Amino acid sequence: MTDAAAPQPPVERSFVLLKPDAVRRGLVGAVLARFEAKGLRIVALELRHVTGELADQHYAEHVDRDFYPPLRKFVTSGPSVALIVEGDQAIEVVRALNGATDGRKAAPGTIRGDYSLSNRENLVHGSDSPESAAREIALWFPDLG
Ligand code: UDP
Repeated sequence: MTDAAAPQPPVERSFVLLKPDAVRRGLVGAVLARFEAKGLRIVALELRHVTGELADQHYAEHVDRDFYPPLRKFVTSGPSVALIVEGDQAIEVVRALNGATDGRKAAPGTIRGDYSLSNRENLVHGSDSPESAAREIALWFPDLG
């Protein structure tokens, strides 16, 4: 019998993008396995070929940066896997699993630390705040936003 009054952990959602390098290198399964093994639940998942327009919206805060043109070229260079994960403190947990932005500096044991040697081609994106997660989920999965 379940106790209807038992406290449930708060549920949070994060938007995750497995970038084209993850798909190209055959690392989608390995990366998804880490999120699942941690206990995060996948609530949406789709293979998407990102257009320049979607890249500009997703990276709106970076479009004027020097690194943006090559980043835009990279994220539109082939299919990506877009997903939403759910769990207690999912936003912070995903970013901890992802590791530091620069794969060369990311700690071993993190996704970027184990699989990336680049500050651009770093395999994975995770929302950086509840506000970003809400914006990104609405952008990528409008039916769920
Ligand atoms: N990026 C890049 N050059 C840089 C910094 C960032 O190409 O000097 C790319 C990289 O793919 C990174 C993305 O831009 O994941 C977004 O940068 P942000 O600082 O938001 O890092 P993140 O939140 O992805 O760790």
